[in-house]
Amino acid sequence: MSFASGVLLPGGVAAVVAWQLCRLLHTTGEVGVRGRELSGALACALALTAGLTATPLPGELVWQLRVIELAAIGVLLAGLWREQGRGRPYQAGLAIVLAALLVVWLTPLRVATVKIPLLADRFADLGLLAPLVTVVWIAGLAVLVRSTDPQPGLTAGLGTLAAATFLLVALTRGRDPLAAVSPLTLPLGAALGGACLGLLSTGLGPQAVTLGRGGAGMVGFLLGVLALVGTLKHTAFLLVALPVLALAVPVLNAVYMRRQYRRAGQQDPALLDRARTLGDMLARRGFEHQRSTALLLALQAYCCLVALALVGLITVPFVLKALLLALLLPLALAVFFLLSRIAAKVAVVGGGRVEILGVPIDAVTYDEALARIDGFIASGQPHHVFTADVSGIMKAGEEPELLEIVRTCDLVTADGAGVLWAARLFDLPVPERVSGVDLVRRLASLAASQGYRPYLLGAAPGVAATAADILQRENPGLQIAGLQDGYFQDEAAVVAAIQAAAPQVLYVALGIPKQEQFIRRWYRELGVPVCLGIGGSFDVISGKLERAPVWMQRAGLEWLFRVWQEPKRLPRLLALPRFVLAIARESWRKWRQAPPAE
Ligand code: UDP
Repeated sequence: MSFASGVLLPGGVAAVVAWQLCRLLHTTGEVGVRGRELSGALACALALTAGLTATPLPGELVWQLRVIELAAIGVLLAGLWREQGRGRPYQAGLAIVLAALLVVWLTPLRVATVKIPLLADRFADLGLLAPLVTVVWIAGLAVLVRSTDPQPGLTAGLGTLAAATFLLVALTRGRDPLAAVSPLTLPLGAALGGACLGLLSTGLGPQAVTLGRGGAGMVGFLLGVLALVGTLKHTAFLLVALPVLALAVPVLNAVYMRRQYRRAGQQDPALLDRARTLGDMLARRGFEHQRSTALLLALQAYCCLVALALVGLITVPFVLKALLLALLLPLALAVFFLLSRIAAKVAVVGGGRVEILGVPIDAVTYDEALARIDGFIASGQPHHVFTADVSGIMKAGEEPELLEIVRTCDLVTADGAGVLWAARLFDLPVPERVSGVDLVRRLASLAASQGYRPYLLGAAPGVAATAADILQRENPGLQIAGLQDGYFQDEAAVVAAIQAAAPQVLYVALGIPKQEQFIRRWYRELGVPVCLGIGGSFDVISGKLERAPVWMQRAGLEWLFRVWQEPKRLPRLLALPRFVLAIARESWRKWRQAPPAE
């Protein structure tokens, strides 16, 4: 079979038919969800049939192909039927099994022998088990893909990627003595890939074509057959690894659904009825439809590339391929997991107190933090505010005294991109970072408008004075209650001076944990309503240290800029990998224990 007649013709015809049908569908006004699913599934089936009919095939292959087509149409019909609320849930599953049985009964397609791992040229004959294994294989893949359906565009995208992978394997290894690739692979893979690609012409957004469980079941069924005829049966490793990788997202989705299902079943049987696919999980995290489908397809595309790389290494020993897989796959899963959390959209209104590595964080915006501080001042009672950055959180983990102080602070803000990312990772509703420097500035503006007088304590001699000048320039009318550098000997005298100045706000810039210890030692006696530990903020405001450019702040790279400016801070950078490790450990623990998603 030539490339033109075996691949271009079926693929091209199927793609064009699907594309044109999608265009028609797109202009057909509102037909409701079921109508869209029905028409999407029928467009897919028609495109496939057209593609396969266009392929010139030898007699016995035509017969096999017709049986496969017929069985796939059976799966489609049963799914559509079930979706209309007819029949019982198990009946659509039963139809898939019957369709697979039909294929096994009427065609010679089956997993007859399996290579034994590690033993050269040793094959196990499955004998009577062969039909059973084949039926389980095809039906299993159909059910897997079927469950990815509710997300428009996803099934078509997955179908395109998986079919293209099998097709590429067949094209590149088809004549290889190690590869047992059936001649059916080319037209079937091309038609299926073409039809799915054509369906994608409406994009990945909410208007994307949806196939319903029937259409998705049909695509999955055909991918199951394709995996069977296109797999490299002469290598035990790739027999399983290739299809699993080419269908990684459906597999992952099934694992995720199973996990959610089991948890829901244990705790709240009412949750059992809700669909909890990976797409639902992303939607809950605020991913728009298009981004969520694109993310899942990107993960699938990566896994397909890994599959192709492994096929390219077909002659490399089993153990090496397994090692490579063990390295590449967790990497993709970890990136997906991180992206699904860190890129999630969190409600812009904060609320409540959350905890990161044992350190409490108030989930507040700048405005909410200022409102809380304003309330503290109005109460007249002393309050302690902590701006928690990565190094602060790590220090609190190491020093029980500091942790105790932080746990009893009246307000703890998430200072820095690292803390915000960690919050996202743990699914905590921290709305934005509230950094020490910006809090000092915004609080100065509030002070100017309300007539509050801040006292600036800390930093090298002269720095607080320059910072005060700048704050006054930025906020006309701001009165400064007093100034004191951070390298004093007589602490009692400093406390007395602050008491005498009677400020409403005390900024303390002595570094962590010195500033927190100072505040905790004195804040009741000082009687200042708001005492705020602010680290190196005066250095930044005074211009002694330059603030990172906005793009670096946005990218969460402010720490890198500070190390660039003050190389002596380099050892502190070690807090960062330790923080990442601690967060990874904690998030794994939480993921295992997490209650079912709402
Ligand atoms: N500092 C101070 N007295 C001291 C130690 C430090 O005033 O005994 C000041 C120092 O000049 C700097 C700030 O405290 O302005 C600490 O800044 P850093 O960025 O190191 O704070 P951290 O990252 O610990 O919050």
